[in-house]
This record gives sequence, C-alpha cells and structure tokens, in this order.
Amino acid sequence: MQTPVFLDHLPDISTVTGRKPERYRLTRNKALSELLLDDTAHWHERSNCPACGGSIAKSRNFSRAYLPFQRCGGCNSIYAARVPAQQELDRLRLEQTAVKDPEAEQDREFEFISLLNWISLTEARSGCRLERVLDYRFCSQAPGFEEATGRLSHNRDWQFLPLESAADGGIGKLTRSLRDLAPKAVLVQAEMDRVADPAQLLRTLRENVAEGTIVFIGTSCSDGLEYEILGVDSPSFIPLDRLNIFSVKGFELLAQSLGYTVLEASTPGRRDAVLLEQYFNSAENAKIPFWSSFFQDADKDRLRDLQILLQRSLKSGVMRFVLKT
Ligand SMILES: [Zn+2]
Repeated sequence: MQTPVFLDHLPDISTVTGRKPERYRLTRNKALSELLLDDTAHWHERSNCPACGGSIAKSRNFSRAYLPFQRCGGCNSIYAARVPAQQELDRLRLEQTAVKDPEAEQDREFEFISLLNWISLTEARSGCRLERVLDYRFCSQAPGFEEATGRLSHNRDWQFLPLESAADGGIGKLTRSLRDLAPKAVLVQAEMDRVADPAQLLRTLRENVAEGTIVFIGTSCSDGLEYEILGVDSPSFIPLDRLNIFSVKGFELLAQSLGYTVLEASTPGRRDAVLLEQYFNSAENAKIPFWSSFFQDADKDRLRDLQILLQRSLKSGVMRFVLKT
C-alpha cells in the first residue's frame, strides 16, 4: 500500500472560521435539531463500530448538538451512535444545496484540480486507463466540479450522479447507473463520512462494477491532529456531516472486509495546523503542555512544516483511499 504526500499550500483560516462557514454550521445544526424533535423521523441505533465492527461497549461516548457519538476503542474511529434514515439525510442536504453561492465555487478550484491530479497520478501508477469516471454525488455539493472536469479533464468521460431523495436512499439509482455506465473508476468524495450506512454504499459499488474497477474515496480522518486535540470542538465537526469519521486503520479494515484491495492511503489534509494555531491563540482556551507554546510562537514556516509532517505520518484530518474491486 502506498502513502503519498501532497505538499500543498496552507489554506486561509477564513475559509474555515469565517462568517460563511459559521452560517453553514448553524444551518446544519438547526436541521439536526428539527430532525431530533420530529417524532415521525426514523433513526437507526448502532451497536457496533461501522469501521471495525467492535462493540459499542468498548468505546468512549460523548455528544455534540444533542447527538450521541462514540470513539471506538478498537480502531479509533468516531461515529454517531444513532443515525437518521438515508432518505432524511438526503432530503436535508437537498434543502441545503438549494441555496447556491457562486463565490464559494471559485474558492474550490484548488480542490477540483487536486482531485483531477489524484486520478491522473493513480492512472499512471496503476497502469489502468480510467477513461470513464462516475462521480457519486460530489457534483451536488460542489456544482462547479462538473464544469471543472469539462475544462481540465477533457480526455476523460465523466458521468455525474447527483444527490436526490428516494425511498431507498438512492441505492437503486446507483446500482442501475453502475450497470448501465460500466465506469472504470468511481469517485466518492466527501460522502463516506455522512452516509447512514457506509458498508452498504461500498458493497453496492463493489457488487455492480467489473473486477479491477478503481474506487477513489475522500473523507475526514479521526487520526488527524485536529480531531485528536480539539475533538468535538473542531470547527469541522458538524454532526450531520460527520456521522462516521474513520481512522486510517478502521477504513482499511472495512474496505478489506468487503473484499476490496487497498492500493493507496494518504492524509492530504491542509487545515490541521492553521485550525490549531487559531485555537491556541484564542485567550479562553486551556493550556496543553507543549502544543500551547508550539502554536503561540508559530510562524507560517513552522505551520507548513507541521502540516507536511502530519501528511507524511497519516495524521491529518482528511484522508484519501484508492481501492480496487
Ligand atoms: Zn472501530
């Protein structure tokens, strides 16, 4: 298994802690509150870790926005102890994405290029020609992605499967699309951490594509320094979007248990260092040995060096997996 490093620039902290991301967090938490108050909503109680299958009894519990969470004692993944039905989750996300923000899409060009480079690099490394890619739902939360693939990745046939609300949580539509389009690769970006049943999604993908199909997964990572130090206080921890925060080991175990071969794991997150710098420079925050002074004295070079170290050691808050069926 390869663990490549991405030497990216540090992001601007306002993309994480500014007014716009704050509005998004509040809107999502309001939707969660309404769902918790809705007596007709369906919930599924989890008794095992969705990654390694370990018992909930061996996990540490905490809560965020009145939703109970667990940190698995076996694989270090974080997961919601109860999850809404996929149909409810999809409905709430459709309401959220109905509010378009053209400015936000311009900010995402860097992210789009990074994803397209990742696919090109994997193609070169694996020797598989990935001429047809199916994008699973990312186009709905990043409307600029479809235009970016047309402009920047024109040697590939891109098919887009947008988010929609269906009684089966979209599994039927996904199954038909996989069979009809026969993609060489499937991109599942920023989806695995917010689905009610991640194993079901991975199983559906594997059962309906040809052997040797490549599946690209981008998701949040519980081993990240951001989550290790800040835990639920991390601004990235929005419960409805983080029902499953896998550890590297946990996601590897899940993928292997479903019959996938893991080709590559990496944690190319860019935000841990700048998030923690802001946290430790806020007056009201408690002192933590070593880290408080490390961040209070940090200049840009130190933050960048730390972020590179985190990427190299698989300890940043975002991870990527390349799987083969
Ligand atoms: Zn686990």
